[in-house]
Amino acid sequence: MRRVAIASIIVLALLISLAACSSPMPTVNDGGSEGARPLRIVATTSIVADVVTQVAGEHASVTTLLPLGADPHAFAPSPRDLATLHEADAIMANGAGLEEFLEGYLASAGQDVPVIYLSEGITLRAFGEHDDEGEQPGDVHEDGDPHTWTSPLNVMVFARNAADALAALDPANAEAYHANADAYVAALEELDRWIQAQIDTVPAENRVLVSDHDVFGYYADRYGLEQLGAIVPAFSSAAQPSARELADLQTAMRERGVQVVFVGTSANPNLAERVAADLGIQVVVLYTGSLGEAGSGAETYIDYMRYNTTAIVQALR
Ligand SMILES: [Zn+2]
Repeated sequence: MRRVAIASIIVLALLISLAACSSPMPTVNDGGSEGARPLRIVATTSIVADVVTQVAGEHASVTTLLPLGADPHAFAPSPRDLATLHEADAIMANGAGLEEFLEGYLASAGQDVPVIYLSEGITLRAFGEHDDEGEQPGDVHEDGDPHTWTSPLNVMVFARNAADALAALDPANAEAYHANADAYVAALEELDRWIQAQIDTVPAENRVLVSDHDVFGYYADRYGLEQLGAIVPAFSSAAQPSARELADLQTAMRERGVQVVFVGTSANPNLAERVAADLGIQVVVLYTGSLGEAGSGAETYIDYMRYNTTAIVQALR
């Protein structure tokens, strides 16, 4: 009995301290008058959430829908996730077809929360663009490459889109959102220069990427790498390679002397590990569809890009 009582007191104390920690937020409709609730944004992936948080600063609460490490292509929202989406003032998503579950959600009855796609305005890569392999009949086909965030130039567009959307939802803080976006874009410009300087240290003939699925197209285009192929030759990790595709990839990798396969933490590594074992090469784990856990060194988008670039450069050099 006594133990139960102490436990309840601890729980109560925690609840009180949590309540005390929640900071006052500006309001949605009336520019910050007392008593109204704060602007609530639900971001789909941890990457989208980080960009939105950088732009929102302390002026909105940002909730991340997908858990760290979840595959954004294959994510299926739980009833609780749907309730979280329903209670938001706006949903911010990568878009470009990344969050396949959103289509079903938006088609559901009674859905009236606005969705802002941060990739809006970015020219999407087509499948096979800048790759040696063309499109095969029967390939899983999407409108374009949804992995826009792998180039910081595109994330500058994310930041501008987020600032515009937040300013429209909360005009009282419009200036702050645009100023935060300006500062973030400056940090992304520095990141872009840093990545190029790192890639430039890799001998030209080694600047070849093979990954679990076609995730690094914008990165490869921006920094002068070749995306030779992928274990799953598609923009979605949900696809499956044919035996022929896998054999062709292994041949191409052998011919090019590829020494490493990159696998994202949100992907199933089994097939990549088998290919690597067949070829006697290494598997290097990167963060692709998700930021890393606390302590990973990839907790923010900028750190995630630095982490991946360092791992890529070390493996290719
Ligand atoms: Zn992907």
